[in-house]
Amino acid sequence: MTSATPARDPYLVGLDLRGRKVVLIGAGTVVQRRLPPLLAAGADVHVVAPEATPAVESTPGITWHRREYAAGDLAGAWYALAATDDPDVNARVVAEAEAQRTFCVRADLAREGTAVTPATVATDGLQVGVLAAGDHRRSAAVRNALGAVLTGTEAARPSRKPEGVALVGGGPGDPDLITVRGRALLAVADVVVADRLAPPRLLAELAPNVEVIDAAKVPYGRAMAQQAINQVLIDRAREGKFVVRLKGGDPYVFGRGYEELEALAAEGIPVTVVPGITSSIAAPSAAGIPVTHRGVTHEFVVVSGHVPPGHPDSLVDWDALGRLRGTVVVLMAVERLGVIADALIAGGRSADTPAAVVENATTGGQRTVRGTLATIAADAAAAEVKPPAVLVVGPVAGFTAPDASENPAAG
Ligand code: SAH
Repeated sequence: MTSATPARDPYLVGLDLRGRKVVLIGAGTVVQRRLPPLLAAGADVHVVAPEATPAVESTPGITWHRREYAAGDLAGAWYALAATDDPDVNARVVAEAEAQRTFCVRADLAREGTAVTPATVATDGLQVGVLAAGDHRRSAAVRNALGAVLTGTEAARPSRKPEGVALVGGGPGDPDLITVRGRALLAVADVVVADRLAPPRLLAELAPNVEVIDAAKVPYGRAMAQQAINQVLIDRAREGKFVVRLKGGDPYVFGRGYEELEALAAEGIPVTVVPGITSSIAAPSAAGIPVTHRGVTHEFVVVSGHVPPGHPDSLVDWDALGRLRGTVVVLMAVERLGVIADALIAGGRSADTPAAVVENATTGGQRTVRGTLATIAADAAAAEVKPPAVLVVGPVAGFTAPDASENPAAG
């Protein structure tokens, strides 16, 4: 077997991976960051690993083989990635790939692989890949500079490196729906602490030297999960790192952003808050539903459905909501659509009020289920709607765009 020689000038190419098998060995943060672009390319993605990060585990559209790597796992693969934390396993994966002429990236020792992952930025139908002969910092710096020019963030780029922690709203899912300021801060982060709903393709763009912490995976022992997350933010900021806390939507809409602000402020750590486009408005909008419309709706109310109506911990006046004529948007409601619809009807809302559920809004997996308050729970169950999704109730939920086109999801 010929061993791979360090290629100073690898051949830069775009692979058409639609429907083609790609095998990823390992399921840690490296794989987590490669998944969104591979899925966006339409690859038939197989992950082999006994354990996975929560983000990998919950990624729809992948086949996860929950076990250790075994010889033969690359059979039929067009492309592979060796990304376990065991160098011996990675070497075996590369050797198997070499023997069957499958290009393979080796995450821990790039020059031992037969392919390398460029630093990339994707925006508005354009993809840029940068390789710098293995110098990750240089390729990331060039990519960041190009990305800033392409996304128009150059003007917003902080002239000096910011300090402390930025609580950044990542928007509803499409990587282009983060704010210019949010993107500029992300590009200079040393550490990114990401929620599960933070747009995954933004994480895929980060340089390899950026520490990405999956907030769902922060070990919390006897402390509450939120306290443990606060502590990670505090610890990294105290080490002098600039930390971006990346959340889905807006940090202050059911995002616990203010709790983190308080915890950081109590330690004297400077905090920047960057608002985001909240899914409560963007998800309806992406489905062609305006939350307000002149002459129809003079109000929209955003409600959390995470505590069911009638529960002692509920802070929501469902009877009052049932008396509204306008738009009611309910987040975190997928598992409780029936009781929520019943509570609104019991409060006085007509059972034939239009209702819609929008799942995975602004991503490639966006779906909309439409019905009425009386039928929506059964409609959503029949369509097997899963979180994240928003429920929209009101006349506007019955609107269909005049040209019947829903906003296309970003690819
Ligand atoms: N801070 C976030 C909301 C966090 S609560 C924001 O402003 O959007 C999490 C809930 O948000 C999910 O249960 C779901 O109801 C909603 N959500 C987030 N992203 C979504 C998306 N892409 N599509 C549909 N609903 C989404």
